[in-house]
Amino acid sequence: ATPTAVMVATGIGANHGVLVKGGDALERAQNVNYVVFDKTGTLTQGKAVVTTAKVFSGMDLGDFLTLVASAEASSEHPLAKAVLDYAFHFHFFGKLPSSKDGIEQRKDEVLSQWLLEAEDFSAVPGKGVQCSINGKHVLVGNRTLITENGVTIPPEAESFLADLESNAKTGILVAYDGDFVGLMGITDPLKREAAVVVEGLKKLGVHPVMLTGDNWRTAQAVAKEVGIEDVRAEVMPAGKADVVRSLQKDGSIVAMVGDGINDSPALAAADVGMAIGGGTDIAIEAADYVLVRNNLEDVITAIDLSRKTFSRIR
Ligand code: ADP
Ligand code: MG
Repeated sequence: ATPTAVMVATGIGANHGVLVKGGDALERAQNVNYVVFDKTGTLTQGKAVVTTAKVFSGMDLGDFLTLVASAEASSEHPLAKAVLDYAFHFHFFGKLPSSKDGIEQRKDEVLSQWLLEAEDFSAVPGKGVQCSINGKHVLVGNRTLITENGVTIPPEAESFLADLESNAKTGILVAYDGDFVGLMGITDPLKREAAVVVEGLKKLGVHPVMLTGDNWRTAQAVAKEVGIEDVRAEVMPAGKADVVRSLQKDGSIVAMVGDGINDSPALAAADVGMAIGGGTDIAIEAADYVLVRNNLEDVITAIDLSRKTFSRIR
């Protein structure tokens, strides 16, 4: 392709919200063998909503929600926002002036007055958060976080959790002072175009892969819904780039699509890194492409554009 053809293709891309950083990236996309998708925020809408909260100890449900929300208040994770939102509505819906009076706008103010103080807060990447509330150690996160801290999950909670996960929901487990307290179920719907795009990639001869830090059962359920057979789950943030590199070992060309800070090393390691949607600044910086419309169809647009631009000189 001539420099002019590359320039024209770059312009066409830009008009469709597909921003490509340079001719090399534009050229590499034509030969992609794998497209690796991050799950949360990439295949899914990234709008997590709590659907269930269940206490397995004597704790009052309202106290349980206060505890979890207080622990999550300092977290940047999308799951944390869902937890705070649920707790807020549980406690305050109907008790404050209606939304017409700006209850949603006052949410942060109301929450800050009512949450418990969380000391020694730390995020545990790929697992959850921990802190100290009322002088007691609090854990909020996935199964791994709970069990590696020596907390036993009772069988009835384990089976409730398995049920949630089989239905594509993510479980958030809570321990207080070394004891398991309860859990929440969170759903994050697929983007409406996700399944069609996965199907389209297969037609182009491209192999789709799902990559996530979420647990195996949830990941498999989501993958089944979207039509992806190749799943890599329970991958710690630092391991995502390793998955990309392992796919590249036989000389395959790998594209990675992701939105989060967690995804940036994998975006950088990929032959074609695509930051999607609201993508964090770090993800955008690490990527070769920015898909600004937050629409997965643009993964196919990018591959198409590259194929059309470079096909004549192949
Ligand atoms: P993803 O690969 O989907 O972006 P992460 O690596 O951020 O996922 O997190 C992996 C898992 O760790 C989540 O699915 C969740 O179970 C748990 N987790 C991480 N952060 C939190 C949090 N703040 N609250 C509860 N659970 C969390
Ligand atoms: Mg993500």
